[in-house]
Amino acid sequence: MTTAHILGFPRIGAQRELKFAQEAFWRDEITETDLRGIGQTLRQRHWQQQADAGMNMVTVGDFAWYDQVLSTLALLGATPTRLKTVPSQLTLSDYFTMARGDTTHFAMEMTKWFDTNYHYLVPEWTADVRFDGGVDWLFDEIAEARAAGHRTKVVLIGPLTLLHRGKIKSGLTHALDLLPAAVAGYQGLLKRLQYAGIDWVQIDEPILALDLDARWRAAFAPTYQALAADAPPILLATYFDDVSEHAALLHSLPVAGVHLDLVRAPQQLDTLLADWPADRILSAGVVDGRNVWRADLDAALATLTPLHDKLGERLWIAASCSLLHVPTDLDQESALDAELTSWLAFAVQKLAEIRLLKGALDGAPDVDAFHAARQARQARFMSPRIHNQLVQKRLQGVSEALTQRQSPFNQRIEQQRARWQLPLFPTTTIGSFPQTAAIRQARAAHKRGALAHLDYLEQMRAEISSVVEQQEQLGLDVLVHGEAERNDMVEYFGEQLWGYAFTQHGWVQSYGSRCVKPPIIYGDVYRPEAITVGWSRYAQSLTLKPMKGMLTGPVTMLQWSFVRDDQPRATTALQIALALRDEVGDLEQAGIGMIQIDEPAFREGLPLKARDWPAYLDWAVKAFRISAAGVADQTQIHTHMCYAEFNDILPWIAAMDADVITIETSRSDMELLDGFGAFAYPNDIGPGVYDIHAPRIPQVEEMTRLLRKARGVIPDARLWVNPDCGLKTRSWPETQQALHNMVRAAQALRQEVAAQETGAS
Ligand code: GLN
Ligand code: ZN
Repeated sequence: MTTAHILGFPRIGAQRELKFAQEAFWRDEITETDLRGIGQTLRQRHWQQQADAGMNMVTVGDFAWYDQVLSTLALLGATPTRLKTVPSQLTLSDYFTMARGDTTHFAMEMTKWFDTNYHYLVPEWTADVRFDGGVDWLFDEIAEARAAGHRTKVVLIGPLTLLHRGKIKSGLTHALDLLPAAVAGYQGLLKRLQYAGIDWVQIDEPILALDLDARWRAAFAPTYQALAADAPPILLATYFDDVSEHAALLHSLPVAGVHLDLVRAPQQLDTLLADWPADRILSAGVVDGRNVWRADLDAALATLTPLHDKLGERLWIAASCSLLHVPTDLDQESALDAELTSWLAFAVQKLAEIRLLKGALDGAPDVDAFHAARQARQARFMSPRIHNQLVQKRLQGVSEALTQRQSPFNQRIEQQRARWQLPLFPTTTIGSFPQTAAIRQARAAHKRGALAHLDYLEQMRAEISSVVEQQEQLGLDVLVHGEAERNDMVEYFGEQLWGYAFTQHGWVQSYGSRCVKPPIIYGDVYRPEAITVGWSRYAQSLTLKPMKGMLTGPVTMLQWSFVRDDQPRATTALQIALALRDEVGDLEQAGIGMIQIDEPAFREGLPLKARDWPAYLDWAVKAFRISAAGVADQTQIHTHMCYAEFNDILPWIAAMDADVITIETSRSDMELLDGFGAFAYPNDIGPGVYDIHAPRIPQVEEMTRLLRKARGVIPDARLWVNPDCGLKTRSWPETQQALHNMVRAAQALRQEVAAQETGAS
């Protein structure tokens, strides 16, 4: 019999039950007992779903009250020491304080889990952090699973991945300085699991898919020798990319099995299989844990069959990675039509796919189910809904010329300066203004059909006009319309493009209680008509100052969606770029002279391995340029990026050739700008002068100080003044005060320059 299992299941619940329970608990509306009860119900349900779907073991340890990394720290006793908790007595409230902060503690930092859109809490490594054991929550969960009669496999984040993903705060020179303590902690834990009679422990080491330096690589063998000695059999799980460069290392480790992601990196199989150790289990991740398409079961079976011949019962079948990254249950979905639904599989449906593969390998194929799956996939690829002749034809005509502006930046910027005559250090904002309850209600009512279209237009226009008036009063130089009509920067455009679908319940956990519903790009992307022109034209009609048109860039449109698996990401990006190019052209035609194309997700798209960077950056830059380059020299293209490391990709950011880039820098006290300075970034830059997430009002002096710092790096003529990011999460009073101060900071700086000039002459 072949073993079927999964690496992890989404914990939030198909109806986001965990989210609502967490938030109710934070508002003191339910007790800790209530919350724990809801968590337990969800775990029981998810285990039962796994058991019902024929998984040979249920996975325990993938549940977390907020985040699996923080839960691992809590389990080990390695939570941040600055909170002065006693690790074994950590309460759920302490745990949430670490995750969310409170009046006396700042929250733990959050960052993306590898190349997913899941955000984990970053471990804080200090010399005094301990791994002496923490809470017993995992053991309670194990007991629950067993009481329900399930055979259990426990999943843990591996010690090396845990150390690698943390950040050194003080007292250490390298995260591996903590390795002896961490190994001792894991040894204690594994001993307890063994004592508890656990059949299997899955230890996740996804860092094996990164470019690891020698020191990290060298740490694996001694660590796993120390761990395996006194532990249940270990399944070492790798995912998200190719680990074949570590074949010899992996083969030498004293583990009972290894999991490989054969969806992301099928090519690694041959290398790894070449001298696969006798007795070792291979867990083959053949069902995509990162996307929502129904699996190609025939192809998966074709991969599995020779493995099965070779390995027999030592072959296990699984999804490629934890199912955390896909929505829970397609059967709960109501917004998609029958055809689209027939193309998809969410977590619950993926369990069924794994079971079908197992059945086929074990000599009991469900012929009808295979046939149905095959037909659904074929129907998808034949469907007229995914093919658009116009788009195909246009793609064929794409040439280098489409990526080129008419003149180089130096010439364009002269024409742009002459056109607008902006003051030195022009002030602007990133696009959105506060999204008040009234705005959100109007949008929702309009969507439901409860607010007539004309009334909705009227209300949005009133909003735009008030936003424009306020910006005029504040004395900003380049205005925006405020984005009141947008629920979300990707959804808004996706809803008006062909080839995008939106679910009602396709929630995926983003962090803590926050979930997102990524759109599904299923077909050729096509823009049937102008999207933003009406709003921008109206906004521009209200002012003599330049009004920035506001678009979401091709890479971000791609990155925050589930994408087609039947063509390269680059092709989809190009289709989106062409649609945006038309929108940019229409805005220009309508008299909009500045157009911002936001790319906050540009950095996120970077592959895990540096060897794959150039190919990605090449098509990503090209897609942006195609969206932007169709305009006249006098039309100014802006872009915006935030909350990412930029320094390692500066040449490519420059290659995007936007006339102006606004970026988030204030959190790092403009440190980020050093990179731009050292690289001599050639075009205009607006480094954010205040953090829009902080609820406090930035003072004039703070911002002039940051601007003086920026002047040290960026020539005056190319320096813009703006906040870090959009203002939609802020309230009006704070927005007004902050922008008022920001405008004063720019004025103060202009005076300083004028004084310096008179002083010098
Ligand atoms: N223009 C968008 C806004 O202001 C940009 C948002 C973002 O960078 N994520 O809201
Ligand atoms: Zn931003």
